Amino acid sequence: MARQQKIPLELYIHIPFCARKCYYCDFLSFRALSETHEAYIRQLIREIRAVSAGCEDYQVVTVFVGGGTPSVLEPEAICRVMEAVYQCFDIAPDGEISIEVNPGTLLQKKLLYYRQAGFNRLSIGLQSADNRELRHLGRIHSFEEFLKSFQSARMAGFQNINVDLMSGIPGQTMESWKNTLKKVTMLKPEHISSYSLIIEEGTPYWERYGKKKRGREKPQALPNAADTPGLIQEPMDISRQELPPLPDEDTENQMYHLTRRFLKEQGYGRYEISNYAKPGYECRHNIGYWTGVPYLGLGLGSSSYLAGFRFSNERSMERYLKLDFAAPGWQDLLYTQVHQLTRQEKMEEFMFLGLRMTGGISEIDFVSAFGVKLETVYGDVIRQLTASGLLKRENTRLALTEWGMDVSNFVLSEFLLED
Ligand code: SF4
Repeated sequence: MARQQKIPLELYIHIPFCARKCYYCDFLSFRALSETHEAYIRQLIREIRAVSAGCEDYQVVTVFVGGGTPSVLEPEAICRVMEAVYQCFDIAPDGEISIEVNPGTLLQKKLLYYRQAGFNRLSIGLQSADNRELRHLGRIHSFEEFLKSFQSARMAGFQNINVDLMSGIPGQTMESWKNTLKKVTMLKPEHISSYSLIIEEGTPYWERYGKKKRGREKPQALPNAADTPGLIQEPMDISRQELPPLPDEDTENQMYHLTRRFLKEQGYGRYEISNYAKPGYECRHNIGYWTGVPYLGLGLGSSSYLAGFRFSNERSMERYLKLDFAAPGWQDLLYTQVHQLTRQEKMEEFMFLGLRMTGGISEIDFVSAFGVKLETVYGDVIRQLTASGLLKRENTRLALTEWGMDVSNFVLSEFLLED
């Protein structure tokens, strides 16, 4: 009898530690004592062993170790986590294995460890090539430190590097943004993610700038954890700091259009609203999220989508560290917000997520997923949006036009179905 093919699976591993909290950040990340780092890694490995026992039917096609700042940890800790991952899961030989790092925490030694641990893709958080802007963001590094990290990464053999950039930073001008784009593209990273700053409630930026603006798009954000022993609470009052105003809406729009034009000229294809890559270097992990590949989150606060269920891991460090993965019923304590997606929700997600990509969605895939034609479910809305120039149809694919991408929040919300 032929062996059944395994189901592709993506792994996301959350490392919730940073050297210091950036002023705009509401991700689940904090400074912590090294004992807490160690306790967390030990618990994460226990989780990996426990959770993988139910994943025999899956083959892992991508792994993303993100945060926080995974590179604040001793590299041996990351190697131990990856050892457990390789022991417990079936990892595809050509898997994309990424780690998120920040300049200022990245030494040559760490990069060599990462190569040994199986990482073949690096994602570096730069945000800006202007040191004043970096200070305004509360980043711990300078552009020069980023340059060193980038060169060290190349020397360590990384041939697939992403650089994260941010527009709409306080004090940023068209000129400084263009300068950032120029300086970064001169290094020829394979991939660039460019997001607009979002002022999130609960951050020091919120106090300073208030809800004056929302950015165009943002990656999944996680609120901060409560006070926990072993985590360092920082004085985050920036009210006395001289922070310049945010760029106005017009300037921010111009920055957004410049990004698209400039990166295109430099040979970067835009394959998603905020993501650009040299041909063949599109991030497989992210594409998996947008095309409905199941993913399993490991570690504090991480999210999963598996067998039609969405769920999140415990978000309190204290409770996470107390979990006993050998005791029956640990799943009930680890997993929160468990929700089985209805057929209607799956259709909506198919559209919301798939249309984020410039290649759009396939009508044939829609029929195979739901047994019904796209036209039957979304015929009216597709006709309206196409007539307005926001959607385009090419053969059996449907995608946002450039204008549709510019106003994607509006267009995507049109695909919500009535109950
Ligand atoms: S923005 Fe990144 S580096 Fe800064 S605190 Fe948040 S997770 Fe850490």
